[in-house]
Amino acid sequence: MRELLISGGRLIDGTGVAPRPADVLLRGDEIVAVGDPGTVVHAPDATHIDAAGKIVMPGLIDAHLHCTFDDVQSNDELFFHREPTMAALTTAQNLQKLLRAGVTSFMDPDTAFGIGPAVRDAITYGVIEGPRMKTGYQALFTAVGGTAGRLIPDSGQVGYAQVVNSVDDVIMWTRRHIKYGADWIKIHATGTIPGHQGELLVWSADELKASCDAAHELGVPVTAHCRSDASTLAAVRAGCDLILHASFLSPDTVQAMVDHGTAVCPTFTFLANLADYGPIVGAGVGQADLFRGEIRATAAMMRVAYDAGVPILCGSESGFALTPYGHWHGREMEVFVNELGLSPLEAITCGTRNGAIAMRMEGEIGTIEVGRKADVLVVDGDPSTDIRILNDKSRFAHVISRGIPVDLDRPWPQHERIPGSKVSNWADEILTYDLARQPE
Ligand SMILES: [Zn+2]
Repeated sequence: MRELLISGGRLIDGTGVAPRPADVLLRGDEIVAVGDPGTVVHAPDATHIDAAGKIVMPGLIDAHLHCTFDDVQSNDELFFHREPTMAALTTAQNLQKLLRAGVTSFMDPDTAFGIGPAVRDAITYGVIEGPRMKTGYQALFTAVGGTAGRLIPDSGQVGYAQVVNSVDDVIMWTRRHIKYGADWIKIHATGTIPGHQGELLVWSADELKASCDAAHELGVPVTAHCRSDASTLAAVRAGCDLILHASFLSPDTVQAMVDHGTAVCPTFTFLANLADYGPIVGAGVGQADLFRGEIRATAAMMRVAYDAGVPILCGSESGFALTPYGHWHGREMEVFVNELGLSPLEAITCGTRNGAIAMRMEGEIGTIEVGRKADVLVVDGDPSTDIRILNDKSRFAHVISRGIPVDLDRPWPQHERIPGSKVSNWADEILTYDLARQPE
């Protein structure tokens, strides 16, 4: 099997220890040696990457993104202007962007039309190019809906949503999603209701537990979107394995997470982009302080959870116009440094080793150690002193996925606007008589 020697660099191995000079030898999809410079014995025909002056580190693991959404601009577009075959084709193109941005593994909790398992298998068996993938099918919603509110029908399915209306329904659809190939079951535990502030818990304790029990009986974990403290506590008690967002945590809920061994992927990136850059693209204008308030409140308790030993993962929520594929996969680590007060090395461990939890590949990926899979980055610059480097694609000298270097020289994959796939308004404004008669 072909060997690849990466020599002369300094190693950030993903376990949290300080960078050190080391050579790394890959054979096929395995790290077979990590040693002091010049000491690693390799085959005479090994390919050689000179990492002098650079950092060698594990590939990034994005524990929460939506690979089938194609950088969507609205719920209307996502639920009513998309088509399954085109969703699969655009996904295949977008996956290349993830690799180009250093993401060698990702978890997608819910997929448009439930195409996730087919996409995963297409990657695994070499039909299309992409990072390692673990996936849900669709997200389970109650009839109250989720973040799309009234766009979600009273029953049936639309886009990435499957509506469940009773405990029996919950059990049936949990089992069906597993039959269809889901690695994870996704519960949309909170939703928006007109006239109410924030997101409310829209599942009963019995419904949450029914899904967790049915999934766990078949060896499948459960993840839940929770944007309130009550929803996180209910999901943790029901047995959910991974909480997405976990906004506004309370000390009791942190303790429950410790007691249950629950992991969390706060996914600040979307909010952080909205707060810092939203107005550039006409989003969240005038609401930056609101978004920053949520980030700050959640981050303070997330730090308490981190210190209590709750595993914290990095997710970018890529797939939306505010978080396009290939652009923001290092942003979460930057937020962890700035808002949680983690050191860059601690943040990197969240974005590498801890991500293996979402991939259900703990001990297989996420660190540079002998016996691990061969997902490796060679980075120009030191992210242990400036974490922002990991969000700058131009700094990735090499991205190695499954032991094979990704071609970083090809043109950036992109497509033009696909007719029918975007929402188009008849007009930006309402044509009143006064507006029409306004002097130039
Ligand atoms: Zn999400």
